[in-house]
Amino acid sequence: MTQTRSTDVRTDAVPASPRAAGGEPAAAAKPATEAVAAQHRQLLASLPFADGEDFEDARRGFVAALEPGIVHADGRVVWDNDAYAFLVGDAPETVNPSLWRQSSLNAVQGLFEVTPGIYQVRGLDLSNVTFIEGDRGVLVLDPLISAETAAAALSLYRRHRGERPVTGVLYTHSHADHFGGVRGVVAQADVDAGRVPVLAPEGFAEHAISENVYAGTAMARRAGYMYGAALDRGPRGQVGAGPGQTTSTGSFGMIPPTLDVTTTGQEETVDGVRMVFQMAPGSEAPAEMHVYFPQRRALCTAENATHVLHNVLTIRGAQVRDAHAWAGYLTEAIDLFGGELELVFASHHWPTWGRERSVGYLALQRDLYAYLHDQTVRMLNQGLTGAEIAETLALPPALENAWHARGYYGSVSHNVKAVYQRYMGWYDGNPSHLWPHPPEAAARRYVAFMGGADAVVDRARESFDAGDLRWVAEVLNHVVFAQPDHDAARQLLADTYEQLGYGAENGTWRCAYLSGAHELRHGGFGTPVTPVSPDVLAQLTPEQLFDALAVRVDGPRCWHEHVTLDVDLTDVGVRYRLTLRNGVLSHTTAPQTTDADAVVSLPAAALPAVATGAADPAGSAAAGISIAGDPAALGRLMAALDDPDPDFAIVTP
Ligand SMILES: [Zn+2]
Repeated sequence: MTQTRSTDVRTDAVPASPRAAGGEPAAAAKPATEAVAAQHRQLLASLPFADGEDFEDARRGFVAALEPGIVHADGRVVWDNDAYAFLVGDAPETVNPSLWRQSSLNAVQGLFEVTPGIYQVRGLDLSNVTFIEGDRGVLVLDPLISAETAAAALSLYRRHRGERPVTGVLYTHSHADHFGGVRGVVAQADVDAGRVPVLAPEGFAEHAISENVYAGTAMARRAGYMYGAALDRGPRGQVGAGPGQTTSTGSFGMIPPTLDVTTTGQEETVDGVRMVFQMAPGSEAPAEMHVYFPQRRALCTAENATHVLHNVLTIRGAQVRDAHAWAGYLTEAIDLFGGELELVFASHHWPTWGRERSVGYLALQRDLYAYLHDQTVRMLNQGLTGAEIAETLALPPALENAWHARGYYGSVSHNVKAVYQRYMGWYDGNPSHLWPHPPEAAARRYVAFMGGADAVVDRARESFDAGDLRWVAEVLNHVVFAQPDHDAARQLLADTYEQLGYGAENGTWRCAYLSGAHELRHGGFGTPVTPVSPDVLAQLTPEQLFDALAVRVDGPRCWHEHVTLDVDLTDVGVRYRLTLRNGVLSHTTAPQTTDADAVVSLPAAALPAVATGAADPAGSAAAGISIAGDPAALGRLMAALDDPDPDFAIVTP
């Protein structure tokens, strides 16, 4: 199927405001307003929808699909690509036609021959898994999020390519959708025995864990908004996220790498497969690398060149990335491999074939990140703030019209603010913004100044009817934060978020807006998917574990508490002194001259269970755990810890 410019956009009358939605239950998803439909018609006329090249590339080399496209675990569905079967034909008015096009491409599922000896399974998770055939077996590059989807992908591959053993694993970078399913393709015993090497960029394990642990609860709650996990799939619900359709929800785990890749130009051969590496730390992920396969003249760009404008800062929250370095790595990739490569592929989306097209694609992707970075810095030096640059910056026509540069995941708007943040921080320099009231306190004052909640809602309805949705979201957010039980404000704000979602080209913006509408109408959905599993916690170093505890200390509750605790890791011969004082938990391995209140002795492997409270050291003598000194000391320390809240409010106070 080739998506062409829509010729039959429905223009039949749709209610201009939710008041006119006669007969519809208040909480149901509404149709698109005429203002949103008109915006979509404009986009259809301005973008090159007649260009079907991506649809050809997304189907090129197709071998077979998984039928049905559903993966189970313990009787539970953990992946359902068939739920996106509605993505055919032209976009309905409730979906941005550009996002509809992207999601139609992402929903193409199955096993594909990229080039002889390299296969990909796409559409079985948020990411792709790539199989590189060696002399004896097959190397697995980026084994998805869940063991179940990774296992399903491997068995689909083997059904068509024979029962090849897995002879190596590569993780291109430290994000969960590139390693979480590893236990579905390789057994720990084979790795431990040295039969299957696991290659990853230097710093992989540290970053894979730290990015998901310290702020993990808040990120996971916000990821629920970003990926729309709680939303129904459909034209009025979740249609896709940008880099893929959504995240799978099966068993998430990790096997640490056995071989660190540390330098650009480093070469390794596994099972006869030659690989040349290019390091790209601090790009899309803190630990990331590109891999060139000379025998196939194929370059894997990990996640630094995909068919989206990626995130300089994701809306779930993360540390801001370096768009300048990112662009530099793409220039370097062209310089290193562009003279010889015949195709480029990534761990999201479909490959690009041919040297000229591949290099052109890499160069445009490079220009995209460089342009965003350089123009933002140019304008901030003219005194513009992030919010102002985001509205001012326009992409050059060649980028504006390149489908792979469209903002399905990152957006020009939020990436520009991220570049500003990287250089200038949260404060825009205007003293009015130095010490404003927090949301609830400001909201009460705004609503009082604006004549009370009912008056604001009446005026907001006029703005809604006029299509000024961004303004309605701003003022009604004040009403809901001042009076969360004001039903008319909640319903109109939900309708507003919904229309903003329908209008969004960015998959994660659509999910965020529709999730906000969902929670205003139906109440909080909490955190549908949590990425931190015991398997990952077990990989934390003792220092990371202690730091993870320190950020849970409830300062005011324990700022008079003083506890010293020695943790003696008997099998590795390291002793830590933990001190809780002034609401701070610090740790050191320096020799001590005073006795601690208590000493906990245990093997290193038992530390995560004790530190997370899953094991009680007093009753665990059999596991080699003992405690000496004041038996209450550990309890006093654990009592200082606060539990993170995976259900915190977002669209209400
Ligand atoms: Zn990814």
